[in-house]
Amino acid sequence: MNIVVCIKQVPGTTQVKINPETGTLIRDGVEAVVNPFDEYAIEEAVRIKEKTGGTVKVITMGPPQADAVLRTAISMGADEGYLVSDRAFAGSDTWATSYTLSSGIKTMGKVDLIICGKQAIDGDTAQVGPGVAEMLDIPFVAWVKKVEEITENSIKVQRLMEEGYDVVEMPLPGLITVVKEINTPRVAGLKGKMKAKSAAIITLNTSNMDVNPERIGLKGSPTQVLRSFVPERKSGGEKISGDVGELVQKTASVIQNLGVVK
Ligand SMILES: Cc1cc2nc3c(=O)[nH]c(=O)nc-3n(C[C@H](O)[C@H](O)[C@H](O)COP(=O)(O)OP(=O)(O)OC[C@H]3O[C@@H](n4cnc5c(N)ncnc54)[C@H](O)[C@@H]3O)c2cc1C
Repeated sequence: MNIVVCIKQVPGTTQVKINPETGTLIRDGVEAVVNPFDEYAIEEAVRIKEKTGGTVKVITMGPPQADAVLRTAISMGADEGYLVSDRAFAGSDTWATSYTLSSGIKTMGKVDLIICGKQAIDGDTAQVGPGVAEMLDIPFVAWVKKVEEITENSIKVQRLMEEGYDVVEMPLPGLITVVKEINTPRVAGLKGKMKAKSAAIITLNTSNMDVNPERIGLKGSPTQVLRSFVPERKSGGEKISGDVGELVQKTASVIQNLGVVK
């Protein structure tokens, strides 16, 4: 079984501050860690490999220092790390990120299963996993809390729902995103840490990936961030009443007046 895990480096705190002038995250002095949901993804991939054999490759898109999260994954049992890093990828929104990651995965040869975390704790959109599946034209199941069965050609999983869970069977190759209920990630041992320290990381960029320059970075990102800010705390509020049509119109005009959409 050839498994790929997508992992993101995120600030190790939810208390990140935003530079009011540039609207970007202030990353200085903030510890960077593996996105917590991605640790469950790594653990599940390593458990499947331990049962079925095969390899676990981990991929991250980010600045050069994001190779640290690949090494963390290798210390937990992953075999190879791929760092997708190029200035041309800067400013990517979730669409461009999904495209670029899927292009990176295409360089890896035969892939049976891709595992992502449910969402990243900084961007929080939960769009990249499904986005990668769409770009690769493979099926996906989001919010997986248990892998019941896996064969060369299919996977049967439990998908967490608001009340209870669904049992879903999906052909492979396919992608799943996982929730924290799925397992307890292992703590890397000394042997794993030593292996990770000396592991060679494969760097992917515009010179060794087949990417369309129109679909990457800021240029390839249909989402435009107009402004980024921490909303002021307000008390009270405005009560809107009326029939459904009036409610929709009034709500839209309140959102417009907030200035967050054009
Ligand atoms: C217009 C715009 C510009 C942006 N510019 C920048 C920028 O310049 N710099 C910047 O750092 N961010 C930028 N971002 C944020 C960036 O798009 C998102 O952080 C990124 O696409 C991932 O989205 P998310 O954090 O919501 O991840 P989610 O969709 O919540 O993540 C779900 C899962 O997808 C996988 N995943 C997500 N991101 C990655 C990754 N990078 N590598 C590997 N796996 C991943 C993980 O498995 C994760 O658990 C920008 C966003 C927008 C909208």
